[in-house]
Amino acid sequence: MLLDRYIVLEGIHEDPNNVETLDKTTQKTYGPLNKSKADELAQKLIQKNVDNFYHRAWVIKEANNQENICEECKTEDKSVMQNLIMYGFKICKSCNISKLIFPV
Ligand SMILES: [Zn+2]
Repeated sequence: MLLDRYIVLEGIHEDPNNVETLDKTTQKTYGPLNKSKADELAQKLIQKNVDNFYHRAWVIKEANNQENICEECKTEDKSVMQNLIMYGFKICKSCNISKLIFPV
């Protein structure tokens, strides 16, 4: 079911209570998974890195399939959600690259 999609983020944070301070160079993204799988994976990642105060794993709900539609080319792609998290744009990998090369 499309509504039942979650992604798991892990990485090193400047402020481990704030997902927005996640260091993008350490970020790993998993999923989409269903809720129980995502929770389970996040737990495992947290336990594995329990000694690192700045390491955190988060479960983020992927609201629906619309989240994967690129605003530029209207193509559905997994990278759209990742770019939304990383850059705040609903944009696919190839549009993101062309935007970086040819800024509007
Ligand atoms: Zn696109």
